[in-house]
Amino acid sequence: MNYISTRGGVQNIPFKEAVMMGLADDGGLLLPEEIPTLTEGDLDALAKYDYPELAFQIISRYATDIPAADLMELIDRSYASFTHPDVTPVVHQDGVYILELFHGPTLAFKDVALQLLGNLFEYLLAERGEKMNILGATSGDTGSAAIYGVRGKKNINIFIMHPHKKVSPIQELQMTTVTDPNVFNIAIRGTFDDGQHIVKETFGDLAFKSRYALGAVNSINWARVLAQIVYYFYAWGQVRKATGCKEVYFSVPTGNFGDIFAGYIAMRMGLPIKKLILATNENNILTRFIRNGDYSIGAVHPSLSPSMDIQKASNFERYLFYLYRGDSDKVRAAMQTFAEGNKLAFTEEEIKRVAEDFMSTSVDSEQTIATIRDFFKKSGYVLDPHTAVGVRAGQELAGGECPVICLATAHPAKFGEAVEKAIGEPPTYPASLQGIDKRDRRCEVLDADLEQIKHYLAENAI
Ligand SMILES: *Cc1c(COP(=O)(O)O)cnc(C)c1O
Repeated sequence: MNYISTRGGVQNIPFKEAVMMGLADDGGLLLPEEIPTLTEGDLDALAKYDYPELAFQIISRYATDIPAADLMELIDRSYASFTHPDVTPVVHQDGVYILELFHGPTLAFKDVALQLLGNLFEYLLAERGEKMNILGATSGDTGSAAIYGVRGKKNINIFIMHPHKKVSPIQELQMTTVTDPNVFNIAIRGTFDDGQHIVKETFGDLAFKSRYALGAVNSINWARVLAQIVYYFYAWGQVRKATGCKEVYFSVPTGNFGDIFAGYIAMRMGLPIKKLILATNENNILTRFIRNGDYSIGAVHPSLSPSMDIQKASNFERYLFYLYRGDSDKVRAAMQTFAEGNKLAFTEEEIKRVAEDFMSTSVDSEQTIATIRDFFKKSGYVLDPHTAVGVRAGQELAGGECPVICLATAHPAKFGEAVEKAIGEPPTYPASLQGIDKRDRRCEVLDADLEQIKHYLAENAI
């Protein structure tokens, strides 16, 4: 399987290259040349596998240049770090199916992709005899998942900046209690945006970037999307077994269009998805797009589901490529228009085609709290605020004819404050968080100053 860029400037890139490239060299995003489709017989066969075997069945169709035994070993190792034997179990609560994606080391769904990406990087760097210094900025979830993805890995150092005292105490502890020598936590005296800006500037210094072999782990790496396709198949198989229904809805709390884009690929592979329900919080650019073709940036509103407080959805360009039927010139022009005017418009015909696959609604903070509370009252099950956004959208939009599967993207203990507000008691802490405040920590506090950060990186690079 070869990969192409959404903007047409990169072609014939094998999977291994695509993983190392991350962002395509022409500024676009990488996609497989074609999407493998599965027959009904294939689907029935897939429903019998356990999670790692299923992951192998899906991923091997895209990672054709990695020998089967190596790929199976990478997958096994990636999901052995999950604490649930099913990796991503499905539970039935209050009329909906909850796909629990939070049993990885940092208790959020990003572990599903980043555990695999960390192992892939290590494998590919060893093969190429290369090293990599990962630099990233985080507002919370991505940073810790990335750190856990590469901690202790050979030939990789990771530098993650978070805004000093501006992430939740649990998120800060999850990052700073990782004391492996290849992990460098930097608390910057500034905001998340300052961190993002420093990352952009540092990557923009091409001499520096190549001298220190800078790498990124942001959500645009194709391998992250690929890893996420797997759990759509897994959940479908589980719910099919439980209900006998062939078609299902998926409701997905969304920020960057990453997770739901994986669902879209699963759909194009032939998974019988009635509709993908895209759930947003107050930051509803994607809902406006799906409902009436209005893709225009608004101000970022802080919400109770902070990992979805996003206006520029970094994976949206991948979807545009399919909406424009693979016309990369049109994608390139649209991205240019968007960069200049912060908005895109769509034709009636395009809006109609979007609606064939997607439905959407936005759920505000008040509704989020009410959903956590009601769900708890009825079932005793505690939703995290991101998951609650998806559950609410699913309850509102899914027709009764097919089961609805809601993606649970974080463990409630990660967002204890909102949960306590809703149900009057703090969520129970899973084992991985118990005693976390007593562990050793390692973190450097630095000014949000480009030169200082670059100096620190140069001193500590591998
Ligand atoms: C990142 C994140 C999301 C949003 O996922 P996207 O792939 O950006 O759409 C939702 N919930 C949680 C808990 C997250 O960490």
